[in-house]
Amino acid sequence: MPMGVYGAGHQGRLFGGPVKNGGKGKESMVGKIVTIPGDGIGPEIVREACKVLDKVGSAFGHSFQYTEILMGGCSIDAYGVPLTDEALEAARQSDAVLLGAVGGDVGNSRWYDVAPDLRPEAGLLAIRKGLNLFANIRPAYLYQELADACPLKKEIIGGGFDLVIMRELTGGLYFGERHTKMVDGVMQATDTLTYNENEIRRIAVKAFEIAGKRRGQVVSVDKANVLDSSRLWRKVVEEVAKGYPEVKLAHMLVDNCAMQLVMDPGQFDVVLTENMFGDILSDEASMITGSIGMLPSASLNEAKFGMYEPSHGSAPDIAGKDVANPIATILSAAMMLRYSFDLDKEADAVEAAVQQVLSEGYRTKDIMSVGGKEIGTAQMGSFIAGRIKGPSA
Ligand code: NAD
Repeated sequence: MPMGVYGAGHQGRLFGGPVKNGGKGKESMVGKIVTIPGDGIGPEIVREACKVLDKVGSAFGHSFQYTEILMGGCSIDAYGVPLTDEALEAARQSDAVLLGAVGGDVGNSRWYDVAPDLRPEAGLLAIRKGLNLFANIRPAYLYQELADACPLKKEIIGGGFDLVIMRELTGGLYFGERHTKMVDGVMQATDTLTYNENEIRRIAVKAFEIAGKRRGQVVSVDKANVLDSSRLWRKVVEEVAKGYPEVKLAHMLVDNCAMQLVMDPGQFDVVLTENMFGDILSDEASMITGSIGMLPSASLNEAKFGMYEPSHGSAPDIAGKDVANPIATILSAAMMLRYSFDLDKEADAVEAAVQQVLSEGYRTKDIMSVGGKEIGTAQMGSFIAGRIKGPSA
């Protein structure tokens, strides 16, 4: 069972604040959720996550109201842009956003014959920026039932691993000024990497809060031997660390971290890093679990608002075939329950239902192995929903 971002079964929450009902769960509530099915397998997997949320609602006495908006290729087809102002505003008015994935086959889709800011993925950048979602949390956990899918040798994975990558999401290279121009007859492209101390401090605080409720270790990843932005990063992280004496801080250069993740992933608890390094390292961390279809993520702002989405993309190669694994999206919905709605018991119930279905041997095609029972996307969603146990169960 994964520790969750806060550790196994604990009732912590990211933003402090009062614990309702002595931490025993919450009375009936109504959650306003904006769903973004997006492209490719997105609609199939979001449908299953909503199925599970509805079961949580009926089992625990809550109700979830959904408003669907378009983003990505489907929005380009409908409106000519990957995200309209109206769609962004609808997301702003919600309590939380559940996203499938956006994008098509990059080498073979009309959506990519246009300027970068009109491509499907520009919708993602715009919504992250527009909702101020600066903290991206991606757990990477090895399910013992799926250990055979892990590409690492058994002696490396040992007792498994359970880590969280905390990636800064709205600064750095992806949001810096960029241009391409001719200089002395030669084409030259420039991207800029900028961070200010406030941007570093707020993500560092989140990482230390999370580590304090897990195994108490933060590894801050940078390239301080080369980059000024990394030297500032390191300085600010060390300042923040002074406020969390119970958390152990270590620094690691990004190239070393890339190696350590495949040599000894069990050493990591919370990995804190900037945008581009986090993009690459979180994909690496996903892949060593051997099952990208299993990994959820959350992108949060300074309050309780968040956008929740699987770590994988829109998988256009398998769209519409009822073979996509919906578990990453279902676990993302569990993160939503925990962080945006303070519904820890309900989130635990979703995670336990996923674990139960895996223990019973059910697998989608991507995680199928000898002896498993292969089922499709919709059936996996129904099985997980069917195993949600409410408080009286
Ligand atoms: P991908 O994650 O979509 O697919 C990689 C491989 O994993 C494919 O073989 C796919 O079939 C498989 N896969 C992914 N999710 C799966 C699931 N739930 N169940 C079973 N198999 C699954 O990555 P890609 O192929 O590099 O990108 C495809 C599109 O997705 C591109 O347009 C890309 O830009 C976009 N993308 C979107 C997001 C997002 O919306 N957040 C993230 C990454 C990529």
